Amino acid sequence: MNRLEAIRVLLVEDEAGDAHLVKMKLRQAQCGRFEVTWAQSLIEAQRCLAASPFDVMLLDLSLPDSEGLATIHSARVMAMGTPIVVLSGRGDTDFALTALEAGALDYMVKGDFGYDGLARVVRYALLRTEMEARNNLLITALEAAANGVVITDKDAIVIWANPAFGRLTGYSPEEAVGHKPNELIKSGVQNKEFYQDMWADLLAGRHWRGELINKRKNGSLYHEELSIAPVKNGAGEITHFIGIKEDITERKEMEAQLQKLASTDPLTGLFNRRVFLEQLEQEAAKVARLTHYSVVLLMLDLDFFKRINDTFGHDTGDAVLKTFAEIVRNNSRAIDVPARLGGEEFAILLSGADKKDALSMAERLRQQVSEIVIDHEAGPVQITVSIGAAALLADDKNGEAVLHRADAALYEAKDRGRNQTYWSCF
Ligand code: GH3
Ligand code: MG
Ligand code: MG
Repeated sequence: MNRLEAIRVLLVEDEAGDAHLVKMKLRQAQCGRFEVTWAQSLIEAQRCLAASPFDVMLLDLSLPDSEGLATIHSARVMAMGTPIVVLSGRGDTDFALTALEAGALDYMVKGDFGYDGLARVVRYALLRTEMEARNNLLITALEAAANGVVITDKDAIVIWANPAFGRLTGYSPEEAVGHKPNELIKSGVQNKEFYQDMWADLLAGRHWRGELINKRKNGSLYHEELSIAPVKNGAGEITHFIGIKEDITERKEMEAQLQKLASTDPLTGLFNRRVFLEQLEQEAAKVARLTHYSVVLLMLDLDFFKRINDTFGHDTGDAVLKTFAEIVRNNSRAIDVPARLGGEEFAILLSGADKKDALSMAERLRQQVSEIVIDHEAGPVQITVSIGAAALLADDKNGEAVLHRADAALYEAKDRGRNQTYWSCF
């Protein structure tokens, strides 16, 4: 504590001799400057407190207008947070403890001040009060914080959590205390390695930061950004962990939405051209690298689609495209990449498929399309599709080569009368 200003002491003491001794001790003190105001009774002390603030009150318990513990009780009310150090003629420990319980911050026996002892006690009382005020300030800030804050001991057992933790997880701070966070909010989405890596960092004394999915008390899942800091003692041993949690569910949902918008065709919900071309390049690279890996590209184009628009209108044309896309989706496996390349032109990348698989899939799809009948007031709407199929080759430099072959095969299918699949022999 490095105070330049004098510490303002209110000395409440009716014995002139004792008061003189205290003033003298504080004046001679080496550790700081003290400005002592002397009051001889509680009522006089009250007047002094009303007139100006004090840092510490030194309180004799036997006063003309008050006696014993009652003096502490009254003084506390008057002092409103100013720390009270009791000065008593009595030296017994039991009474000292009772005085502390009654709200005194410290206790000194008159005449037993020792060298600089009184000054040190006064300074300590002030320091402790300032630290408590600071602690209260920090706790208030943490309690008001929008992010969840949780403090655990070294075994990850919660010892404190703020209200935002409660809002985020559904567990009130009182419910959380005494439990490990993973007993409460672990969702099971992250695997064992995730937590092992996290603990490896933390136990090595490193700060850990990451995103994870946790589970609320009501069972619903949420995304959180979690930052954990290990706290060490003077010997460098970890004593606590402090976790800061931010709810990022909305951001994650927005990102997923944007990702979906950026990768799908709005009319049909199939992948768009960009995603398809990216996937094609990846598959082409895989085929070039791996010996027993085959991929087939199907190019699909509706037959005489212009006539559908012309006869039934553009809206019906759109409905047909959606119905067709549904069939494409239903015939695709999870590892396939079905896409709308533009207009009424579609493609499917069949990963790991050979010629036989691809042709049987293409035929099944072609057949189903030919069986669609959409009701329209101008009559039933029916469509067929032509399909060009080509395998990716290890010698292809990139995806473009197979696009050309499949396109040529599609042209051939059209040329040969449409509503059929043609396997590339180019
Ligand atoms: P082909 O058998 O040779 O493929 O004949 P086609 O009529 O299907 O081929 P063409 O390329 O001449 O016509 C394609 C039509 O697809 C023209 C265009 O108006 C229509 N089209 C393209 N995109 C859309 C769309 O998003 N919605 C609708 N309703 N029609 C579209
Ligand atoms: Mg067409
Ligand atoms: Mg066309």
